[in-house]
Amino acid sequence: MRSDGLLMVISGPAGAGKGTVVKELMKDDNMRLSISATTRAPRGQEKDGVEYHFLTREEFEKMIDEDGFYEYAQYLGNYYGSPKKPVEQWRKDGKNVILEIEVQGCQKVKAIQPDCISIFIMPPSLEVLEKRLRGRGTETEENIIKRMARAKEELLLADDYDYVVVNDALEDCVKSIRDIIRNNQG
Ligand code: 5GP
Repeated sequence: MRSDGLLMVISGPAGAGKGTVVKELMKDDNMRLSISATTRAPRGQEKDGVEYHFLTREEFEKMIDEDGFYEYAQYLGNYYGSPKKPVEQWRKDGKNVILEIEVQGCQKVKAIQPDCISIFIMPPSLEVLEKRLRGRGTETEENIIKRMARAKEELLLADDYDYVVVNDALEDCVKSIRDIIRNNQG
């Protein structure tokens, strides 16, 4: 048995349904979700400290200088990063930690923590992806176009992940990820 908790990186294009999948996984008592910091503006009903820690660029860059991030990256002109302290503490406490981050962040985590488990959530098709993105009703047309273009780039990197799981039916997708966790817990 391993004593440290697992470190899991979950990526996938905007609209793949990562948020819903992660919410289901969080029903497990031993699971913790890292709350990222970002310089993007809150979307819809998002609240500071719940979905993200919303920071100014100055605040974010200060945290970079203080070595406060496990990893960070830029995505469509904004910074996104995973605060280091909670991740390290939870793992020491034996909790399994999820980082829901984009592809560059995943590459950085793999470099410093090769035993992390990387999972790519794949939408069933680009059409479904666009429909889900539009269905949110919180994105501008310009953002939808940018996110779709970025999604197409990200899909090409799915092969770099340890596991690729298609999110067609939510239940099946969550079950596959729970199986992955079980198999990695030894
Ligand atoms: P959104 O703006 O839709 O919330 O997130 C945009 C992208 O940034 C998503 O792919 C999301 O997974 C990613 N992201 C969120 N937090 C982090 C983080 O801490 N680090 C990195 N590298 N990406 C993140």
